Amino acid sequence: MTTLVPISYSTLARLPARIGRKIDFNGPPPPDPFRAITSPCWLWNGWYNSSGYGYTTWEGRDQPAHRVVYTLLTGKNLTGLDRDHVCRVIECVRPDHGEALTHAENMARLGQHQKSCRRRGHDWSDPRNVYTRGDGTRFCSACNREAKQARRAAARAARLAGASGMRVAA
Ligand SMILES: [Zn+2]
Ligand SMILES: [Zn+2]
Repeated sequence: MTTLVPISYSTLARLPARIGRKIDFNGPPPPDPFRAITSPCWLWNGWYNSSGYGYTTWEGRDQPAHRVVYTLLTGKNLTGLDRDHVCRVIECVRPDHGEALTHAENMARLGQHQKSCRRRGHDWSDPRNVYTRGDGTRFCSACNREAKQARRAAARAARLAGASGMRVAA
C-alpha cells in the first residue's frame, strides 16, 4: 500500500491551466469519509463517464481525472494501481484524499468498508456474521450458516421422502 503524499498549495502550479480551471479547490470537507479528513475536497467540473467518474483528455486519450491530477502533482504514475477514494466523494480528484492500492488490496479494502452482506443484507457489525480470510477479503458466515442449514433440511426431507417411499413400496 502506498499512502498518497499530502499536496501543498504551492505544487498546484504544476497543473496546466486547462486542468486547473476544471477543479473547484474549495469543495466542502467530505461529509462521511472512511478516515478523518478535514481538508476540502477538490471537485471535478469537467465531464463524467456513465459510472460517475470524472474524465479528461490527456496525452491524446480520455483518462480518469483523478489519475491525471495525481500524476501531474506527484510525478508518479498510478498505472496498474487502483485508487481508494478515502474521502468517499466520487467527484473528488484531490490526490491526498485517496490511497494507491493494488487491485487485490482495493478489493479487500472495499470488503472492509462494507457494512452488510450483499446477498441477503446480514449485519456485518456482528462479528459472528463475517469471516476474514488470510488475504483480508471477507465473506458472510451468516449466509454460509443458512446455506448449510438449507442443505441439511434438504437432505432430511430427501431421507424422509425416501423412507416413506419405501414404506409405500412395502
Ligand atoms: Zn475528497
Ligand atoms: Zn449474508
